[in-house]
Amino acid sequence: MILILLLLFLAAPFFVSPEKAVGGETPLQVEVLPRSVKQGEVCLLKAWGPGSLKSVHGEFQGRRYPLGSEDQYQTFEGLLGVDLQAKPEKYSIRFMTTDANGQVDSKTFSIKVEKADFGVQKLTLPRSMVDLDPQTLERVNRESKRLKELFQKFWNERTWKGAFIRPVEGELSGAFGTRRIINGQPKSSHTGVDLRAEEGTPVWASNSGRVALVDELFFTGKSVILDHGWGLYSMYFHLSEARVREGDRIPKGAQLGRVGSTGRSTGPHLHWGIILNGARVDPLSLLRSTASLQ
Ligand SMILES: [Zn+2]
Repeated sequence: MILILLLLFLAAPFFVSPEKAVGGETPLQVEVLPRSVKQGEVCLLKAWGPGSLKSVHGEFQGRRYPLGSEDQYQTFEGLLGVDLQAKPEKYSIRFMTTDANGQVDSKTFSIKVEKADFGVQKLTLPRSMVDLDPQTLERVNRESKRLKELFQKFWNERTWKGAFIRPVEGELSGAFGTRRIINGQPKSSHTGVDLRAEEGTPVWASNSGRVALVDELFFTGKSVILDHGWGLYSMYFHLSEARVREGDRIPKGAQLGRVGSTGRSTGPHLHWGIILNGARVDPLSLLRSTASLQ
């Protein structure tokens, strides 16, 4: 009985509307899925209101998350990412709407971010890949600065559409978020997933977008990064070959290159990473949260 009550409690909608919309006929309805979110997960934001809504966006931790509408019923959808190191506590999402007359309205919701249990992974790698000489260290710092600057760019056009797809068929060989101990030293967390695949296996674009980077980097080897718009980037690392060029516009499922083991890698696999508005999130969570989208 207690279990049933607990299940009913957990199944209850995660959000209640704590505020009535100001100045309107309480038009704005909002849903956030999943209803409970952990560090490193992606949420699908949905909003619908009167037929006159023109634009909707969410504000979360000082960042802007646009929602878009594709149907005549004016259901607005967007994605929100919780960084893997976000503090597990209560946060607010503020939904802002503008109607056809330019009237602005807002509604605030609170979400609770739960702590994720990411676990630890121990790896042994050649010393030259871990204890870096000054020249290599300088290269690594330069490359990490370049990536950081890239992910700060916000392309205000959404090119992704519908469900994201796995870039290779291959079992998970490295989970998201694990704290890594390399040659006995604690290192940074694993900010993507590793998918095991044979050398040469084609790698597909997980959604449509624009090629933001193609280069050979020290840690990530031959790398392709796609910008899907609205702050969403996908990364494909350790490739043996890249088949696209920076600036190319590509559709979902286009071949980006082939699986390899370039950079700091222990064998052929694809490292697949996702950055959403600066948050490092689990690609498998992105698959789950967009699975129902057309
Ligand atoms: Zn990896």
